[in-house]
Amino acid sequence: MDDKEIRERIGRLREELKHHNYLYYELDSPEIADAQYDLLVRELKELESRLGEAPPPDSPTVTVGGAPRADLAKVIHGLPMLSLDNAFDREGVEDFIRKVSKGDTTPALCCELKIDGLAVSLHYKNGEFVLGATRGDGHTGEVITRNLLTIPDVPKKLTERVDGVLEVRGEVLIKSLDFVALNAEREEQGLPLFANPRNAAAGSLRQLDPAVTASRKLSLFVYQVVSPGDHGIVSQYQCLSWLRGQGFPVQGTECLCRGSEEVFDYIERWSDGRFSLPYVTDGVVIKVDDLASWPALGATAKAPRWAVAYKFPPEEKLTKLIKIEVSVGRTGVLTPIAVLEPVSLSGTVVRRASLHNADEVAKRDIREGDMVWVRKAGEIIPEVLRPEPRSREAGSRPFSMPSRCPVCGSAAVSLPGEVALRCVNRSCPAQVLEGLRYFASRTGMDIGGLGEKLLAKLVEEGLVKDFADIYSLTLDDLASIRLTGDKSSRILGEKAASSILASIDLSRERPFPALLSALGIKYVGPRVAEILAGAFGNIERLSSSGEDVLASIEGIGPTIASTVAAFFSDPRNRRTLERLKAAGLTMSTPEAHGGEKGGPLGGLSFVFTGELEAMTRQEAEKIVKELGGATPTSVSGRTSFVVRGSNPGGKLAKAENLGVRVIVEKDFLDLVAEARRGRGPETAE
Ligand code: NAD
Repeated sequence: MDDKEIRERIGRLREELKHHNYLYYELDSPEIADAQYDLLVRELKELESRLGEAPPPDSPTVTVGGAPRADLAKVIHGLPMLSLDNAFDREGVEDFIRKVSKGDTTPALCCELKIDGLAVSLHYKNGEFVLGATRGDGHTGEVITRNLLTIPDVPKKLTERVDGVLEVRGEVLIKSLDFVALNAEREEQGLPLFANPRNAAAGSLRQLDPAVTASRKLSLFVYQVVSPGDHGIVSQYQCLSWLRGQGFPVQGTECLCRGSEEVFDYIERWSDGRFSLPYVTDGVVIKVDDLASWPALGATAKAPRWAVAYKFPPEEKLTKLIKIEVSVGRTGVLTPIAVLEPVSLSGTVVRRASLHNADEVAKRDIREGDMVWVRKAGEIIPEVLRPEPRSREAGSRPFSMPSRCPVCGSAAVSLPGEVALRCVNRSCPAQVLEGLRYFASRTGMDIGGLGEKLLAKLVEEGLVKDFADIYSLTLDDLASIRLTGDKSSRILGEKAASSILASIDLSRERPFPALLSALGIKYVGPRVAEILAGAFGNIERLSSSGEDVLASIEGIGPTIASTVAAFFSDPRNRRTLERLKAAGLTMSTPEAHGGEKGGPLGGLSFVFTGELEAMTRQEAEKIVKELGGATPTSVSGRTSFVVRGSNPGGKLAKAENLGVRVIVEKDFLDLVAEARRGRGPETAE
């Protein structure tokens, strides 16, 4: 390539990488794999160095991260939060070690695993957490204090009081199984999936509403103290143990290495060892251990010179796609599934992978009989990346979805605004079985022993047609079931049957939100179920509320409101619920049936809106509490009374919408007087 061609290629690469940076850092939704991105950066770096000119400050080889979200408050980092230089092979690591060595003397190196999450800065004042921020563009970060407060791992108070200001840096991540659960819930709700745990963590944290962050299971690991000298910390290894002592979560994989061989041993050990970790690591960070030498080694605009990140090679393998099967989920969605020639990936043998929907298959032109590249997204979810073009057999045809349900033969249609095809038959055995499986699962009614095979048999024998039938099963019904395995068959027997019956019995005690989520109402997963149970308190109130009332609840949008209302207006569902109620399942929250608190106002809750005349709101709330009542800050279906003062706020409309009893100040004072005389008031119910 001559200079002109190099410049042209550089221009194109910069544009392309800026586009990917925007998708990755600002939208948390990348289009290409990290390894592909890294290759493009390497090519750009190579070409920039061939030109022998310093790259401009906006070149992706110089910039860090992405622009902070305009709608989040900003903070300027005292010490920039930089990226890390990468090494992709032994040579790259040796090169780094050479640069930090003095002649033949190699300094002690602290090796840690690189966590694939989102960098955060945590500020403490006199030992209390006061501010949290993202890395942003390295200089300006987004303030996410309230979001970080929802993460249990983030210490709100340090073990020992640390006077003055302490800034700690680390990584917020989502563990592999929590990532799988989050994506499963999103798939269920028709929401776009997160490409990997890193993007799931970033997307969950960079939110305006801390409730969204709170609903995701995020974790934290820290690895750096800014101004370590102020705390008597002299080495990175010591820093990690100091952080641990202060109550911070530290990975615990650090190793002090002397010389490159020990570093390579560490890398070698974790190349396989990483697959047994509950979270994703994409490499090893090698740092000069002596912190006093960090300022002298300094940094480029993008990365410090005292550290390097060795990146593990991506595990992608080639295998044969034997066929594409179509499975039917509990909401009737038809999903194409790749049946693969078994291949070992990230520590397990993979045989099947979801292809999500017809559009995805078409976009990647994946065909039966192809050799395909597979990997595990976030080291856990098997994924078919692309076909190997040279492997395609002559005469292969693009895949098309069936027009009928492969299980019951009913029409498969796509509903407006949905990519997915759905089987229209609500009694389709596949849907019924999936619904039952979900109902009995751990996130639902948690009925141990009632797995897919047994449920399939119970459906086949006509013993179970809906959820309520589970509660009429007898010991004889269960004990005589014959289960057929691959090679043999066996009777379930009395012992297993009675243990399953005990689990069924126990499930009657499952809390109301668990039951709501188990019903499999579209879009109602565990989180939405919590909101609905909290707002309405019992099944009667919930099932008789119209779409408008449902949509007025915080966290419930119009789509959820409409599917919930549709579910409860279906006579079949109402009948099932009646039978579940008769079977003794929990259909209200404990607060809704009175609460446990003593006092004449025990079990009642009061929300105040507007100004009171005789006293301030705080005084009124104090009186309620003294008499055993509760004073939540917002109105929900469980609120007993809303007390209306002059100039009431939005709480009044909400109360009217939810049918909560509204009283004026005088009624409230009468009620208090009555309660003080020892007679509790009567509620609207
Ligand atoms: P990076 O993620 O490769 O490394 C720097 C970060 O590592 C630091 O900011 C720090 O937060 C983190 N880190 C994790 N564990 C650490 C530890 N133990 N000690 C110190 N730091 C630790 O760099 P980056 O700038 O955040 O992102 C660049 C990478 O992101 C690329 O190499 C690529 O893999 C990926 N990326 C992908 C796309 C895409 O489109 N797929 C786009 C942009 C970036």
